[in-house]
Amino acid sequence: MTQRKAAALISGGLDSLLAAKLMLDQGIHVEGINFYTGFCVEGHTHAIRNKDKNKEKRNNALWVAEQLGIKLHIVDIIEEYKDVVINPKHGYGANLNPCLDCKGFMVRKALEWIQQHDFDFIVTGEVVGQRPMSQRKDTMPVIARESGARDLLLRPLCARILPETLPEREGWVDRNKLLDFSGRNRKPQMALANQLGFNDYAQPAGGCCFLTDANYSRKLADLWQVRGEKRYEIDDIMLLKVGRHVRPRPHFKLIIGRDDGENNFLRGYRNRFVHMHASSHRGPLVLLDAESGTVSENDLLLAARLTARFGKGRTDDEVTVSIHDLSDMVTEYKVAPLHPDELPQEWYL
Ligand code: SF4
Repeated sequence: MTQRKAAALISGGLDSLLAAKLMLDQGIHVEGINFYTGFCVEGHTHAIRNKDKNKEKRNNALWVAEQLGIKLHIVDIIEEYKDVVINPKHGYGANLNPCLDCKGFMVRKALEWIQQHDFDFIVTGEVVGQRPMSQRKDTMPVIARESGARDLLLRPLCARILPETLPEREGWVDRNKLLDFSGRNRKPQMALANQLGFNDYAQPAGGCCFLTDANYSRKLADLWQVRGEKRYEIDDIMLLKVGRHVRPRPHFKLIIGRDDGENNFLRGYRNRFVHMHASSHRGPLVLLDAESGTVSENDLLLAARLTARFGKGRTDDEVTVSIHDLSDMVTEYKVAPLHPDELPQEWYL
């Protein structure tokens, strides 16, 4: 009998690891696909921030593939994914997470992939009832249908409570060896991991991406509101992951590094933003995000005072702040750091 081939969506979490493993154990040839949207939590911020220095910096999807001994294809979908985030047909979840459209889109991309690569079916680690939007009993068929994958989509962790799929009907996989997990309780997955000998795996956090994060979504909503349209570039969404974002006036905001790691990261954007730092004291690198020509001298003074507020000179009477314009011309401002009473909470995004 020819060996059947499945493409498994690998997020880096435990569920997709287990789903792929169950297929390997049934003699299926499995290769992993990991879609890179730009919003992925993976490694990125851990790699930047000092406070996360001791956290292991690994790409969990690659690590999962290595544990399973399978090939992983990392597919960049940044551009196409924009439409999913900007116009989700099924709307957003609790934050700006378009989970249902996102899953449908990823399965559709996986379908294209298996067609191009001559694979037989698609595997995901989805579990009925685990997530409020994309993994409800009534929304799982939506993903299968709208992606076009239909019964080529197998979810091994909960297949026994879902209708039979083609791989089961054709006898490529044994339905009796598939599982019937459901609900939010993750104990069955953990027990299975234990049984299969996996004891080191990424802890399930809120979701696979920043769009499930309330703080992140608020900053993205602010970006769209200021632009007057839902539009973003990859650098926009990267910068939302880094620093404190403070909007003291509707027409500009400051991105303030919180530690040396973030300052270094922001330094990479120096020639694209007016930026500033205190030259008389240690302090953060600050990017000024505004349309060119909209910022007045008073705005720059306020930005300088805010920059001073977040540095070592915050309690001094005067701090010198160097402001670099886009052609790297430097102007020095001697300012009094902003007093905490002058910094309303609403300025923080
Ligand atoms: S958490 Fe993010 S990546 Fe995961 S399904 Fe939702 S939108 Fe997609």
